[in-house]
Amino acid sequence: MSNIYTNSRVYCSSSKPFNKNQVDKNYLFSSIDLFFCPKCLSPKALYQTYFEIVYKFCSNCLTDFTRSKDQHTCSKNCFICPECSSNLEISFENHNNNSKSFNFKCVYCKYYFKTPIINKPKPLISIINECKTDPFNVLCHKISDELRDTNMSEKLSERAIKNLQFISKESIEDKKEQITTAKYPMPKKLTTKKSIFCMSCRTVLFAPIVENVPPLTNKVLIKYNAVDYLPHISSSKLIDNIHLLNFINPLKTKVYLEILIPNNENCKTEITTTEFILGPKSSNIVKTIPTAYLTESTSQSKSELILRKGGKMYQEPTVDNYHEFFEKGINWISIPIVVSSDEKEVELPIHVKLTCDELPEKELTKIETSYWSIIVIR
Ligand SMILES: [Zn+2]
Ligand SMILES: [Zn+2]
Ligand SMILES: [Zn+2]
Repeated sequence: MSNIYTNSRVYCSSSKPFNKNQVDKNYLFSSIDLFFCPKCLSPKALYQTYFEIVYKFCSNCLTDFTRSKDQHTCSKNCFICPECSSNLEISFENHNNNSKSFNFKCVYCKYYFKTPIINKPKPLISIINECKTDPFNVLCHKISDELRDTNMSEKLSERAIKNLQFISKESIEDKKEQITTAKYPMPKKLTTKKSIFCMSCRTVLFAPIVENVPPLTNKVLIKYNAVDYLPHISSSKLIDNIHLLNFINPLKTKVYLEILIPNNENCKTEITTTEFILGPKSSNIVKTIPTAYLTESTSQSKSELILRKGGKMYQEPTVDNYHEFFEKGINWISIPIVVSSDEKEVELPIHVKLTCDELPEKELTKIETSYWSIIVIR
């Protein structure tokens, strides 16, 4: 069933989805990656949202860093492996005059790092930074020092030219020796819990539950995911250029749909049904799967196929009988569509207009919306 979610893509922009019959892919998102704003009543891509961090912590030592706004890694000696991102075990060895050296060993792979002998106590991250003496890191330091030293009152263009000259000079000088880079223990990245808001109306689209601090479980307080509100649209091939368009209703109420598929010079379509009603979704999962997606691999799916198809179980679709493959289920519909195009793969734009009966939800009692969905037909 997962291909239903990835096959169904939604065009998230206020502008028209076509530019000379080409769909602008920058605004095209899989419906599984979208939110649904209960106030704007439209699907929202991540770029149409903003977030606020509700909690920020290190998942290794559990220190709370929520108030440290600019901190993104743990400063409490938690390090991860630069090869495999697993945690590093840290141990130390004593040397003469109270000096020490530190060993970092990956708990998963063979990565191992040993610091030189340190005479004065200092944070591990400073010790590691001082170890970064390979040619690549030295070059990076030179460039950042040069940037820091640049007079900020200079015009940006002049500064940029100076920096570019410096970088090219360095790389010419370094051409003789191979720039090598070593791998050092990396400070562990912090884990964040975020609330996500609609950029147009500031409504909360997603909020985590932060009941235990630190919040180690992924419990959710609010979530408006598009796949829970908008019909899943997918296509399945019948024969040659004849396909089925499948619509599945994820809601617990009836949905009234009106679809429009515009023809263009590259692609003409013929479809008989453009207005239809989908029933509420059932808890009996097998009943909610369009026949095109039922397989004979499990006994439950096979018996449902026999129940639905009976004597027509092994009927092959032909150019004459394809209308018989029109089918309506409990919360879904499969409509035959003829797609005429010279292209092997067609991106079919479908304008979807929908309303639903009253929803049993506090913040979202009714959906009335329209949007563009793009389905790939092969
Ligand atoms: Zn909104
Ligand atoms: Zn930590
Ligand atoms: Zn490792």
